[in-house]
Formats: sequence, C-alpha cells, structure tokens
Amino acid sequence: MADTFQLDIVTPDGLVFSEPIEHLRAPGVEGSFGVLVGHTPFMTPLDVGEVDVTQSGKVRILATSGGFVEVNPDRTVILVQTAEFAEDIDIERAEEARKRAAERVQSKQPDTDLDRAEGALMRSINRIRVAKRI
Ligand code: ATP
Repeated sequence: MADTFQLDIVTPDGLVFSEPIEHLRAPGVEGSFGVLVGHTPFMTPLDVGEVDVTQSGKVRILATSGGFVEVNPDRTVILVQTAEFAEDIDIERAEEARKRAAERVQSKQPDTDLDRAEGALMRSINRIRVAKRI
C-alpha cells in the first residue's frame, strides 16, 4: 500500500491545499487525532485549532476554524470556514482582532453578540499561537 493519502483542505474561498501527504493531525471536537493512509472512514466536527500536515517528512502547520473532516482510507477532506498556513498569518492583524474581540467580550454591552465576539477571540488567539510555532 502507498504510504501517502490525498488531503484536500477546502474553505468557502476555495481550495487551500490538495496534495498527497503522509500524516495529518487535526483538532477534533473530542480531541486532536492523527490520520495515516488506510484509516477507517469517519467524520467529525473540528474545533478552532491547529492542523499539522506531514509531507516528505516535513511538518507544515495551519490555523483552522469551524468545520468538519471526512476521513477515508485514501482521501481526507477538511471543510473549514478558514485555513491559513502559519507562514501566511499576519500576526499584527490577529493581534488587533484579539484586542477588539477581548474588549467586546469584556464590555458586556446589551447589543454585543457574545458568541460572535468569543468566536473572533478564539480565532485570533489560535492564529497568534500557530504563527509563533514557526
Ligand atoms: P479579522 O477581524 O482580522 O478579519 P476574523 O477572525 O474576523 O479576523 P475571519 O472571518 O476568521 O477573520 O477570516 C476572514 C478571512 O481573512 C479568511 O480568509 C481568513 O483566512 C483571513 N484571515 C483572517 N485573519 C487573518 C490573519 N491574521 N492572517 C491571515 N489571514 C487572515
């Protein structure tokens, strides 16, 4: 059996990644999990978190948010709202987003959409953490 499987990472903006890889680590809502070729099929929602992709022995890291993964023996599809490789993350933008979201969460104004503010806070903290991993 080949030691690689196809990984597609798709967002509403398009295909972010579509290549054969050796190993995937993804942030399932019930915990991070690994995938190798031949994995039993399953589907799970994903948390805001970090996706690690191993290709030719090298690990690349992405920050992802809000979506699902579908695992099959020879192909895995990650469908997420956002996905950025660590090297493409604009840390200053993420830091600004973090400050804005933290202020909104703390302000507790009646017109604040708390779920939205908390979502933005989680995404920005995740981006900062992932960007600092490289
Ligand atoms: P912001 O307020 O900075 O837009 P956000 O959390 O509201 O942050 P999202 O709605 O999650 O942004 O993402 C919108 C688009 O911008 C997506 O395509 C995402 O990949 C991209 N994006 C968001 N933040 C960054 C960042 N810090 N660096 C690179 N791309 C980013």
